Amino acid sequence: GKVNGGDKILEYNSELRETYDELLLLESDIRKAFKLNEFKLAYQPKVDVETNEIIGVEALIRWEHGKKGKISPATFIPIAEEIGLIHQIGEWVLQEACMQFVRWREQGAEPVIIAVNVSALEIQQQGFLEKVERIVEETGMDPNYLEIEITENSVMQNTKDCIETMRALRRMGISLSIDDFGTGYSSMGYLQKFPINYLKIDQSFLKDLFIEAGSAEIIKAMIQLGHTFGLKVVAEGVEGENMLQFIREEACDYYQGYLYSKPVAAEEISEKLTKVH
Ligand code: C2E
Ligand code: CA
Ligand code: CA
Ligand code: CA
Repeated sequence: GKVNGGDKILEYNSELRETYDELLLLESDIRKAFKLNEFKLAYQPKVDVETNEIIGVEALIRWEHGKKGKISPATFIPIAEEIGLIHQIGEWVLQEACMQFVRWREQGAEPVIIAVNVSALEIQQQGFLEKVERIVEETGMDPNYLEIEITENSVMQNTKDCIETMRALRRMGISLSIDDFGTGYSSMGYLQKFPINYLKIDQSFLKDLFIEAGSAEIIKAMIQLGHTFGLKVVAEGVEGENMLQFIREEACDYYQGYLYSKPVAAEEISEKLTKVH
């Protein structure tokens, strides 16, 4: 029987209601923030495991909400996708990142690859390629220093069109990464089919490295798999010296993580970039 069941449902509903209201509020706030140009980009260095030199940076979007403070992109990007604003936000991100590359160059920095996250919906949209071409043209970006990060799930849908788009991006000189590698539910056959340059091992594997038995073996296997297909392998979420030592022993190529640097404002990185090489 349903003893006290009614109360439970009521409680549950009002909680859901609150969550729903919260979501609606956030939706309209995201729209406003975009109009008012309140998003910023932070940059996290990608570092060579052997030399500890910066070989690139990943652009990560930031939003400081007037009342709620910092809101994670892991929260608002999925909402932006749902309300269709992701295409405009993605365009802004790409534009801003390309402009920053040019600014750094003007300040005398050595060129490093700048990586931008692109959501599945964006890459699958008709006209994505033309959009990238236009932004590269307008900003004066050197496409040989532009990298696009996509998750494995996003390229598995609509595979044929996606491969075409990826090939065209590569022909422009842009490089491609598979982000969050190991977390998708797809087969790995695409490693052979897709014209990609880098595999980024998801940070959840590094997090478990010295905690969960088997994690070390999984990371090793992923590095080897990447190398077998001629890809460079990037470890994400390297927080400790012991993690770096481990991936160095396994011949991982590059890493990102708090150990070297958190994502920081462009100005904070420019000094480091003028000292590269
Ligand atoms: P991601 O692409 O996998 O980015 C890596 C995330 O790990 C970033 O979180 C970064 O701040 C964080 N991180 C870096 N090093 C460490 C570390 O050593 N330890 C830990 N615990 N975390 C580390 P962030 O910036 O909050 O971004 C979260 C996700 O939001 C990103 O995951 C990406 O999927 C999405 N995202 C961020 N910016 C954009 C964007 O411009 N466009 C799109 N479509 N998605 C974005
Ligand atoms: Ca990424
Ligand atoms: Ca990632
Ligand atoms: Ca992620």
